[in-house]
Amino acid sequence: MSIFAEMAKHGHEQIHFFQHRSTGLKAIVALHDTTMGPALGGCRMRPYESEEEALFDVLRLSRGMTYKCGVVDVDNGGGKAVLIGDPDTAKSPELFRVFGRFVEGLGGRFYTGTDMGTTPQDFVHSQRESSRFVGLPEEYGGSGNTAVPTALGVVEAIKATAKWLFGDADLGGKRFAVQGVGKVGALVVQHLVEEGAAVYVSDVHRPNVDRVAERVPAEQFLGAIAPEEIYDLEVDMFVPCALGAILNDRTIERLRCRAVVGSANNQLLDVQRHGAMLRERDILYAPDYLANAGGLIQVADELKGAVPERVYAKTKGIYGMLLQVYALAAEQQIPTSIAADRLVEERIDRVKELKNVRV
Ligand code: NAD
Repeated sequence: MSIFAEMAKHGHEQIHFFQHRSTGLKAIVALHDTTMGPALGGCRMRPYESEEEALFDVLRLSRGMTYKCGVVDVDNGGGKAVLIGDPDTAKSPELFRVFGRFVEGLGGRFYTGTDMGTTPQDFVHSQRESSRFVGLPEEYGGSGNTAVPTALGVVEAIKATAKWLFGDADLGGKRFAVQGVGKVGALVVQHLVEEGAAVYVSDVHRPNVDRVAERVPAEQFLGAIAPEEIYDLEVDMFVPCALGAILNDRTIERLRCRAVVGSANNQLLDVQRHGAMLRERDILYAPDYLANAGGLIQVADELKGAVPERVYAKTKGIYGMLLQVYALAAEQQIPTSIAADRLVEERIDRVKELKNVRV
């Protein structure tokens, strides 16, 4: 792979490679675009098969963070870190401390926290060496469980979608199929039920289904569904809160819902193709990086002093932002996923202009 060619393809600014012999640390940090502010993005740990695979992942994920930060208009750009190693065997306090020292050395161009394979506890070690870590445990100044604002944001996105489709954001009597009732999905179900909706739920881990089912009044519980059957349900909205890539050639043609709105990351297997397929089938798609931005809003807010009321207000704002995306997509006759990207690109261009003013 030609690294500069790869960076140029999507406009990445910077890549850092770090290694540390005694701890075995091998890390890559990619900064995609810092127009909006210092880069923000999680740190993923995986036993990547090759350095190329790790590099490809960090480039893709850091770019995604630019869009995720941009769509909700926080003052951060896109960045991401990957640690090459098995999270079950390669972790040590010293590895995370030295990673902290490296991140600190970036001088505030990059802030990071948990992602797949890392936990808030890992970064308790890193924060001893650096003030650039977010999403720490609350006793270390973190702002708490991100599933809470993430679920709130998903429900705002669902209400906006109801408003767009049915002319009314009221969810009373509407029917939903929730895929995955883990940290976010279980809270989404709770909100939906409080709003008077009825739900099907599905999870590969049966105890999670049972825990949720116990708390839903019988008249609002449509049933526990086998994981593979969820795509065939006739509902108002399909709410994916588990895996990515679940919107693909095999599933889209089975969907019998009016819209897809959920927290799962990277729901479209192929953003262009499957975004277009949903549009052709007249199924409205809430771009995942907007619907699930509540958690990001919360960690970005830590950099401004963590005010829960501000997180709540900004997360509620997902409602209006999604309506803007739907309006642009309708006006330009494009998939909603492309409309969201365009809104972000226009916003970044406007911020570039204003940053020409010398302070
Ligand atoms: P989680 O691990 O707590 O929950 C995921 C649930 O999905 C689990 O209960 C799991 O058993 C279930 N699951 C896995 N495969 C499934 C399948 N094929 N069918 C049905 N259920 C399945 O994770 P979470 O924190 O609730 O996150 C859910 C999704 O939302 C993920 O894609 C995550 O990346 C995304 N997300 C989470 C946050 C957050 O703050 N937690 C923020 C943004 C996005």
